[in-house]
Amino acid sequence: MKKSLIACGVLLLLCSCSGASDAEDVADTTDAEQTSLTFFAMDTYVSVALTQGNGEALAEVEAYVLGLEALWATTLESSEVSQLNQEKSLVVSDETLQLLEYACAFSEQVSGAFDISIYPVVKAWGFTTYDYNIPSQSELDTLLTAVNYQDIEMDGNQITLAPDMEIDLGGLAKGYIADGIEAILRDHGVESAMIDLGGNVQLVGSKSDGSQWMVGVSSPDGTDILGGLALTDKAVVTSGGYERYFTDDDGNVYWHIMNPQTGYPADSGIVSVTIVSDSGIYADGLSTSLFVMGLEEASEFWVEHQDFEAVLITDTQDVYVTQGLMDSFSLALEGYEVWGIVP
Ligand code: ADP
Ligand code: MG
Repeated sequence: MKKSLIACGVLLLLCSCSGASDAEDVADTTDAEQTSLTFFAMDTYVSVALTQGNGEALAEVEAYVLGLEALWATTLESSEVSQLNQEKSLVVSDETLQLLEYACAFSEQVSGAFDISIYPVVKAWGFTTYDYNIPSQSELDTLLTAVNYQDIEMDGNQITLAPDMEIDLGGLAKGYIADGIEAILRDHGVESAMIDLGGNVQLVGSKSDGSQWMVGVSSPDGTDILGGLALTDKAVVTSGGYERYFTDDDGNVYWHIMNPQTGYPADSGIVSVTIVSDSGIYADGLSTSLFVMGLEEASEFWVEHQDFEAVLITDTQDVYVTQGLMDSFSLALEGYEVWGIVP
């Protein structure tokens, strides 16, 4: 991996941040004319903005998202994931199987930086209830013995977990669903749309006037827009420490992205990762994984694969942009230095 300082002027951007919809030319009306849809699901606001009315497509999108939420939400006792966590063995739907298979293959690809069986550790830190707590080392050691995606057995649709294992598909579900929403929209002939699932943005085509969408990248503390990405037809997913965290009495910050090897919040020097890819699910998994890997390993992973692009922000206020985004990224905040990553 080589890195070099790239020229990047400070410029003010008028853009949507981590995907608040670019909705200046869309408005709510009814039925066939309907151009936008917003509802709450999967612990976030789901919003879809079309540049041409298509109420039928939007109705199908809503039913699709609510259907998958009912299968995968850990907050619903009746979901397949909850039942699997409780019973340890369950015949699941094809859609759940598909996501589980993807999750395990993906974990292998990122050498365990991503692991859906990290869930009991996430719970022990209180991230699922907002009742935060620093678990003792012995509690973490015990919980970590059951963290290993390789111990998930799949026999057709029959899934079996190891005795103390529990899983959460939340690290990939939004990406999977964004890909599904895009497919529904395209089936309905939609050629221009922005899908936003709280930090997961999916761009269908370009804007109605043919220009690129502008997607904002949040500053590491989540209070500002650090920069913008001009893009067409891409998934853009950010994992930021600012999204969910707590601070102890000494001012140490603990966030919701975990290192499955240590059971502690990822402490890699990276504080935010934005992935740009053709695939929403791949971008979703990678944003979490590269956060865990840290700059060196993440850069090597990019060089090796080169089927995605990334913006990596470190705790030293350095912004690393992979080669394919150097022309699309523009910095909007002072105090940061922008570097390019090339093979
Ligand atoms: P969010 O889903 O909140 O936008 P991310 O996409 O970064 O954020 O995923 C983080 C979520 O995934 C956490 O809330 C946690 O439940 C789970 N998680 C945390 N660390 C990992 C990991 N290393 N592998 C798999 N899932 C993780
Ligand atoms: Mg993610």
